[in-house]
Amino acid sequence: MAMTPEAKMQYLFTLRSKGVMDVRTLQAMEKIDRGDFVKGLFAERAYEDMPLPIACGQTISQPSVVGLMTQALNVQPRDKVLEVGTGSGYQAAVLSQLARRVYTVDRYPRLVREAQSVFDRLGIVNITSMSADGSFGLPDQAPFDRILVTAAAEDPPGPLLAQLKTGGIMVLPVGQSDAVQSLIKVTRLENGFDYEELRAVRFVPLVEGMGQE
Ligand code: SAH
Repeated sequence: MAMTPEAKMQYLFTLRSKGVMDVRTLQAMEKIDRGDFVKGLFAERAYEDMPLPIACGQTISQPSVVGLMTQALNVQPRDKVLEVGTGSGYQAAVLSQLARRVYTVDRYPRLVREAQSVFDRLGIVNITSMSADGSFGLPDQAPFDRILVTAAAEDPPGPLLAQLKTGGIMVLPVGQSDAVQSLIKVTRLENGFDYEELRAVRFVPLVEGMGQE
């Protein structure tokens, strides 16, 4: 399903009205069609500002939350970015428009396979997708300029903090999985970390180990 110009205008208007103001983020979200990442019954709701179910009992995040997280990450064109929680692949595709390379991992091999086939179909070549437990990060590719976690942990995972470059930024939801969580922005300083709380969010939990599908 291709996005009509009217649907696209409405989509961008909603993003702006929810606080997504960064021009590059809006351009990336204009370019990547969320409809390519939502399948079956829910495809016709792809442009609503709502999370939607995807395979393996997971969800594609709400567009305004994708926009706010992307904006907070402040990705630069030369950046190497790690995303933990590929899910549908939509967030990774948005990041791919802003970064030099995006590594994205999910604990469900099926989600990684399906997302990769959408990247291939769209001709997106700067995303490397892998099935892995992302709470350990990707030691072989570290350090990263930016890290985005799209599943909630109780605290920022130590390996991810360790794999962030000095001056690097990590955005992630923290808190109990069955409660409202906080989206936080962590900046790695010369000696330590700076933490900024952005807003309340609700994400599926970051789960240890690999998924079964
Ligand atoms: N960013 C996604 C939405 C992700 S939903 C999108 O744009 O569609 C959160 C994802 O995190 C789920 O797919 C879930 O399987 C994954 N996840 C949860 N725990 C994980 C872990 N330890 N390692 C990697 N992925 C994990």
